[in-house]
Amino acid sequence: MIKIYDTLRAKKVDFVPLNEGKVGIYVCGPTVYDSAHLGHGRSAVSFDVIRKYFIYRDYEVKYVSNYTDIDDKMINRAKEEGISVEELSKKVFPIYARDYGALGIMVPDIQPLATQHVPEMIELIQALEKQGFTYILDDGVYYEVAKFKEYGKLSKQKLEDLRAGSRVDVKDGKKSPCDFVLWKFKKEGEPSWPSSWGEGRPGWHIECSAMTWKHLGEKFDIHGGGLDLTFPHHECEIAQSEPVFGKGSFSKYWMHNGFINVDNEKMSKSLGNFFTLKEIFEKYDPKVVRFMFLQTHYRNPVNFSNVLLDQAKAGLTRFHDFVRNLNMLLEQSGDGEISENLNAEINIARDGFESSMDDDFNTSGALGVVSEFVKAVNVMMKNTNLNKIELSAVLNFLQLVDKVLGVIFVDHESVDDEVEALIEKRNLARKSRDFKASDEIRDELLNKGIVLEDTPKGTIWKKI
Ligand SMILES: [Zn+2]
Repeated sequence: MIKIYDTLRAKKVDFVPLNEGKVGIYVCGPTVYDSAHLGHGRSAVSFDVIRKYFIYRDYEVKYVSNYTDIDDKMINRAKEEGISVEELSKKVFPIYARDYGALGIMVPDIQPLATQHVPEMIELIQALEKQGFTYILDDGVYYEVAKFKEYGKLSKQKLEDLRAGSRVDVKDGKKSPCDFVLWKFKKEGEPSWPSSWGEGRPGWHIECSAMTWKHLGEKFDIHGGGLDLTFPHHECEIAQSEPVFGKGSFSKYWMHNGFINVDNEKMSKSLGNFFTLKEIFEKYDPKVVRFMFLQTHYRNPVNFSNVLLDQAKAGLTRFHDFVRNLNMLLEQSGDGEISENLNAEINIARDGFESSMDDDFNTSGALGVVSEFVKAVNVMMKNTNLNKIELSAVLNFLQLVDKVLGVIFVDHESVDDEVEALIEKRNLARKSRDFKASDEIRDELLNKGIVLEDTPKGTIWKKI
């Protein structure tokens, strides 16, 4: 039984899926206006491992993670660069695909873009309007949080305290500083969509309520994101979705990954103490970065430093050396049977791995178990030569756990195969003059961080 720390219930609870054997997960993705930084990487790795462990446990997983491609940050940055918001999103999106791919993150089953879900957002706002949750000011449609009695239940805050503690000046006409915008009326030079309130664009919070609804329905299993999204973003999502879909709707479990601290301060853009993934990948293999994340439980803060990365590098090198050594021995070893001793070690390690991961995805515990296993096998190998069957059994076990952890084996082949297969498919489409399909495949690859170049000798590809 998998146990999950649920932010809403503020405790570890048994995970019971809504539909047996299936799990629907939505994780708030980044706003694609600037490079991916370490915080994005941590959130993406945390939920990638969670997703992969559900797959390991034979769940049929539907994993949805969005990209916000319209909001104030996007508009401001596009203006600064003198390009359209759409051009900005097309430019930044592949950076995330490249960096996430390097971190070994599986591409989500669905990666919705906010701008593709505006009709659903409008429908939700209309439903809230009908139920009396909204009011209109001169610049947009607002949500009145006082109308939702449970506002604050996720972040464990009382509306009165929030109101009193708010240092934000109440905008003219806003009934409470906590009220938030659902629909912003059009301003000159900004992208806009038609609606019953006139031309405008959605507020940030409504985007995720609409995308979860479209792709996972009125009720789904897990909603995740970084801890900083708990309030106000996720609180607002609940306030928007629950009144429309009814009590007990929306996400059954809420999961949040911890912050990254630098010198005991939260790493953030506003403090200027942040690192982009690209900067770090120039000095460290992305697998080292992934390994560093996994050494800390996803809910705890990571105290980031070069020392931490160096320690991760040393730890990971031990695994890689061990695997290389096993592969070398495998070529020289003879047949035989698996010893009882080794069998017992593998069983202990598998049980240890699973009980760590069942316990709210404790990756640091799981890595500890794998490390102990490697030590035990090394001791065994000092005393006796392992035969082919035994060496394969050790490798098989490591491969099994690495489907979740994604750090032990250095393999780029599967990626290459996938890319080659897609190029082949695109060539066939081009031959039959199906240029729409051909362009779609090119875009799909671009989203994986692969650019294609058509040359007289054929199509070549490279990683961005
Ligand atoms: Zn969101």
